[in-house]
Amino acid sequence: MKTAILHISDLHLTEFNPGNGRIPSRTISKQYYIEQFIHDTKEKLHDWDAELKKVVVTGDLANEGSRDDYEIVFKELTKLKEGFNLESQDFIIVPGNHDIHRGKNSSVHQDSDAVPKPEPNQFHDAKFQYFIKFYNDFFGNDFEPCKPSIIPFEFDDKKIAFVCLNSNYKESCMSKDHYGYLNLEDILKIESALLGEFKDYYKVAVVHHNPNLDSAEKSIKNWDEVKGSLNSMGIFSFLCGHVHTSENLEVKTTETNCFCSVGSFAKEDPEISNTSALLVYEKEESGVLFFKLERLRYICDGNGLYGKGAWDIDTTKYNKDIKIGKHGVKVKQCVPIISARRPTDILPETTGVEQAFLVEERNEQRIYSDEILSMVREKNAVLSGHFHWSDTSRSHGWIDTGSLLIEDRDIEIIGKAIFSVIKTKEVQFDGIVGLGMEGNILGALVAAATNKPYTYIPVPYRKAYNEYELYAKVNSKRILLLADVISTASTITNIISNTDYRFLSEAEELRVITLFFTGDEKRLKELYEKFENLRIYAICNEIKFGHCGKEPEECPIVKHKLEQIHEFYTKE
Ligand SMILES: [Zn+2]
Ligand SMILES: [Zn+2]
Ligand SMILES: [Zn+2]
Repeated sequence: MKTAILHISDLHLTEFNPGNGRIPSRTISKQYYIEQFIHDTKEKLHDWDAELKKVVVTGDLANEGSRDDYEIVFKELTKLKEGFNLESQDFIIVPGNHDIHRGKNSSVHQDSDAVPKPEPNQFHDAKFQYFIKFYNDFFGNDFEPCKPSIIPFEFDDKKIAFVCLNSNYKESCMSKDHYGYLNLEDILKIESALLGEFKDYYKVAVVHHNPNLDSAEKSIKNWDEVKGSLNSMGIFSFLCGHVHTSENLEVKTTETNCFCSVGSFAKEDPEISNTSALLVYEKEESGVLFFKLERLRYICDGNGLYGKGAWDIDTTKYNKDIKIGKHGVKVKQCVPIISARRPTDILPETTGVEQAFLVEERNEQRIYSDEILSMVREKNAVLSGHFHWSDTSRSHGWIDTGSLLIEDRDIEIIGKAIFSVIKTKEVQFDGIVGLGMEGNILGALVAAATNKPYTYIPVPYRKAYNEYELYAKVNSKRILLLADVISTASTITNIISNTDYRFLSEAEELRVITLFFTGDEKRLKELYEKFENLRIYAICNEIKFGHCGKEPEECPIVKHKLEQIHEFYTKE
């Protein structure tokens, strides 16, 4: 049976008509409305073989945010809960601007004798006084206006975290404050939880205002300020409310984010018809969950706007997949360079390895190789011993390349050497990536000289990569990677094979320039057979180190504890 999530919003429940042109909903209190909804929704779920597991309500539950309003809200949500055989804990609720009690907000602000007097919008507890009370009655726990809550949800073997954001930070009794706003300081309160405890969860934000609307009043005013932080916490998808109209209901998918608004569930407005949305789980693909969006619309049976009607599937263009991704919502295409075809059409099989290297006859490169060797001698940069970088990267020697990247003169020579390779090997590239800290210096050097897009991967040899590395990206088809030392090329293999790395997502060709290649050239031949659009060029190919056995126990030094082992990682 499939899993379904119900998304409703903007109920605007009240018995009080403010006479401000808005028509608050009383329809819902009529016996048939919610019963009809439950009945029709259940019928659709049955047709799709789906089971409703969660209900998301994205704000404006009340119309005036008053105590009386929430009595109705409580009653109607309880009907929904019982009608779908759910628990209170299956509801995910955030407040909207209509959940603020403006009268309370205004009087508390007026009565405040704080010096200097804060803006009215800063009286968060007063603003949400009755919402907080309702929240506690419904859930049995407190609503904190200035701290987002995280609600985990597991189904099948999928783990989702609903991240409930309060976008009413700047809303108040003053009309000048009528816009959506997310307080960055508040959002950062859950950063460690999202990157720690909920690291492996798919995250979806539940928020009243839709950040992706053109209208500043309806959208989130400081979106540019908070977007990066939300994305870096793994939040790329947003379920929103606040817009009641039939417009703006399209699912908007950008390069990395997905935004979905649902219209008003219960407002009596001649301009719109009420809607709800069902998200039916479909599949998981490359770190993205797909939910099929089915909107239900309330259509009256002809007895006027407020008459009896039925909920039916909206077959317009609005129905589209909602995507919830761990590292963005774009499904990464297979990176062409990982296709396993022999590189016969690029290089003759027998010369594949040699051609990738600087052939010795070319004087210029010979000179650079010698210059760098004398640099190594001068700095005593070659160290012997057992250097265990990771499970797959262990060698009996190490070049302290950092010591070669200190003096201007040395850096200049290395820079010239790199450009000599680019020139003689006719290396074409339109994006640059530095590998590791030293690779970052080399990469930045090339980027500064060529003015091409650049990023770097700080700790490339660890399997347990830093979160940052996954997001680093240059939108380039031909990427030049700069490294200081390559021995087994396990790092290169790792970053090519691991499609979680985004910087290769557009790549068709990968060229690597390394200061030193300390490994066995046979290994490269294997690598080229596997990755046809990869070439590695070494500036100095003369320092070679033995490689420790395939398993750590195979290294006799380790096995018999004969020598100091430099371990640069732990298994965890
Ligand atoms: Zn509303
Ligand atoms: Zn609203
Ligand atoms: Zn060893």
